[in-house]
Amino acid sequence: MNRLRPESVRRLLAWSVGPSIPAWIVLTALGLLEELEWMTVAVSSGVVFILMAALVLSRLADFDRLINYAEQLGTSPNAAPPSLETSATARRLLAALTALRTLWAERRDEATALAKSRQDILDALPDPLLLVDGKRRLVSANAAARDLFELTENLSLPANPRHGSRDLARLVRDPRVLEAADQALSQGKKAEAQFTLPSPVERTFGALLVPLPEQARDGTALIVAMHDLTERLKMDRMRADFVANASHELRTPLASVLGFTETLLGPAKNDMAAHEEFLGIMLKQANRMTRLIDDLLSLSRIELREHTRPTDAVNLETVLRSTAELLERPATERGTKIVLKFAPDLPPAAADAGELSQVFHNLVTNGLKYGGENSHVDITGEVSQTRPTTMPGKGPCLKVSVRDYGEGISKEFLPRLTERFYRVDTARSRSLGGTGLGLAIVKHIMSRHRGVLTIESEIGKGSTFSVFLPMATTSGMPAPQQQRSNAAP
Ligand code: ADP
Repeated sequence: MNRLRPESVRRLLAWSVGPSIPAWIVLTALGLLEELEWMTVAVSSGVVFILMAALVLSRLADFDRLINYAEQLGTSPNAAPPSLETSATARRLLAALTALRTLWAERRDEATALAKSRQDILDALPDPLLLVDGKRRLVSANAAARDLFELTENLSLPANPRHGSRDLARLVRDPRVLEAADQALSQGKKAEAQFTLPSPVERTFGALLVPLPEQARDGTALIVAMHDLTERLKMDRMRADFVANASHELRTPLASVLGFTETLLGPAKNDMAAHEEFLGIMLKQANRMTRLIDDLLSLSRIELREHTRPTDAVNLETVLRSTAELLERPATERGTKIVLKFAPDLPPAAADAGELSQVFHNLVTNGLKYGGENSHVDITGEVSQTRPTTMPGKGPCLKVSVRDYGEGISKEFLPRLTERFYRVDTARSRSLGGTGLGLAIVKHIMSRHRGVLTIESEIGKGSTFSVFLPMATTSGMPAPQQQRSNAAP
């Protein structure tokens, strides 16, 4: 049996005295009327009180257990209900309390499930999202944001002494974002800001700060939705650089053509020797502009189609032989031989014949330009049992290598060779008729083909440019007639 608490003792006294009073009045009246002796009155009154106390005590113990139980429920909802001894009323109360407890438990489970599904939805969002209260303190973060700011599940971070432990400023120090958050909270209007996170790699984010019309139960007053802009800004920069570079490349020959035209119309009007020389230069510059425009158009055409993978079955030997034939004259002029070597029964490539001949044309032309005079450029076609790690898919693939024996390229330049307009020696490239776009075109064509270009080079020994291409699958094989026409240059 539970020990009685002080208030229970008080209750016991109060509840026992009350019901005893009528009996005590009757006994006192009988004493006054001398019907009973005072001794008997006193003893009887005592007996009445003890009987009342015993009766109340048996009931009170049950109610005490109920009170204890109700108090326990506040802290541990799964507390076991007490077993009651006598009171039917207490038992009814216990039944009502138990029903109430079940209802609370259901509501609590519902609320927990709701909070979990809300968190699951937020975690499924690919972009980082922070929930912030009216004082700019962090309330919650989705998985992407926890990942970005290296937050633990309970959002703990090393404290920043300058800001409150949960202030948004601990995560995003950029004053533009903090100002935008304060503004959104005070004016109740959306705000936007951009910020940069310096480590581990510099990344730029756009943040949209949306205040809630009413503060949520968990204190959330502002949603901070972030979007990674790094890639887009890089693309924008590249596009701007590209336009600037292309304009610059065109402006130089154009300025030269304009300059010579003015000279021919002016001071050199009657100078026939100058006419011949200047017209020759103008023709060269006009040809340079044409090549540049052709390459720019090729590049944009390839870029437009880059997401659609070519599936024609193309015979590499046919394409390479016709490329070699086309370049035979410039090769002979430099005293260079183009040597072709093919593995027997080379399987067809899944490719676009026109684009492949452009790839080989660019690589062999570079071999001739930078390979030194009176040398040779070797072209080999074979099946490679392994793929470069950067090439998608598994299993064997086709490999075509173009090797020259020129001056070679220093290692530090290799990663940048496929950038548009990147040249190791700009003046030399221009004097050889280069546009600086040849390898960029090769790279884009390879990416469309789900293939790769690798470059190996050694100073003084020469360079090998290899393209790895996927083989045509049997299902993707076109009819023999189509195959012949595809293989045409
Ligand atoms: P370009 O029109 O200038 O040849 P490319 O994009 O074809 O442009 O090549 C970019 C640069 O790579 C060239 O300017 C040259 O510096 C270098 N390069 C390309 N191929 C070779 C090679 N076979 N040997 C040496 N350097 C090469």
